[in-house]
Amino acid sequence: MAVKITEECISCEACAPECPVAAILEDGHDKNPTDVFYVKPESCVECVDHADKPRCAEACPTEGAIVWDMPYTSEFSDYYAMGNDEGTYKIREHKTKGLMLPSVKEQKFIADIPMEDREAYANVGQF
Ligand code: SF4
Ligand code: SF4
Repeated sequence: MAVKITEECISCEACAPECPVAAILEDGHDKNPTDVFYVKPESCVECVDHADKPRCAEACPTEGAIVWDMPYTSEFSDYYAMGNDEGTYKIREHKTKGLMLPSVKEQKFIADIPMEDREAYANVGQF
């Protein structure tokens, strides 16, 4: 990831069309493990190389619905593996590579975001 969509989400659908890498799934999608909209952490690039700020958060009208999550890097592979086991994430299973954890494929992330903001799941709109 990434950014993460929380239970504050009102399923207004504003964010998904804004994502440059089609990382956002609507509620009810069979690959969405939540009951609100969902960001696939293995796909989100935090809009790096596409925009100055996460486009989903710019489109979102709901305070606290889109928050920072950990970078999708090898360092956080166990974090995402555990979240996948617990059902927080539903990470794509590749036919030959297996679960597409960060240890298999890392994603870009905004390096300027302080780790304490990520650890606190701070609102993306606040940066
Ligand atoms: S931060 Fe950018 S890449 Fe990630 S889900 Fe939001 S719009 Fe998509
Ligand atoms: S724009 Fe915000 S409130 Fe609307 S669906 Fe996306 S995350 Fe949920």
